[in-house]
Amino acid sequence: MADCIFCMIAEGKIPSSKIYESDTVYAFLDLNPVHKGHTLIIPKKHAKDLLRLSPELGCDLVLAMQKVGRAVMEATGADGFNVIQNNGHAAGQEVEHVHWHIIPRFDGDGLKFWAQTKYESMEAMNAMAEQIRAKIV
Ligand code: 5GP
Ligand code: ZN
Repeated sequence: MADCIFCMIAEGKIPSSKIYESDTVYAFLDLNPVHKGHTLIIPKKHAKDLLRLSPELGCDLVLAMQKVGRAVMEATGADGFNVIQNNGHAAGQEVEHVHWHIIPRFDGDGLKFWAQTKYESMEAMNAMAEQIRAKIV
């Protein structure tokens, strides 16, 4: 897509620190990493978010996450890694070309993404599950 920064990176029109490339996928270092080695994985073909991504690309992207995740861990000495993918502004999506963050993690690094439970009871939790199940198509 014309003025999409990640399309331009995938096409080599904007420089990036390449990590991995296949026919359909491109991976490069995030400019503002959570930790050094933080990598972004994108499909070369533009899609705004996960809901607009062709399912056919799924396998290629998961394969890239495995390859890149393993390499990032080994190269940085990380103890683990997070895979994070933001959809929509409210979720923190700044760049509107779907992408996966591979974030190396270190024992005791203190980062915490998830809060404690918001459910008042198990019944409330099960009711939420029922509401979501009803929307699965
Ligand atoms: P989001 O918040 O959309 O999930 O993440 C976008 C990520 O893209 C951010 O972590 C940001 O640092 C990274 N980013 C934005 N522009 C560029 C760029 O031009 N080059 C690189 N390498 N990363 C970028
Ligand atoms: Zn794009």
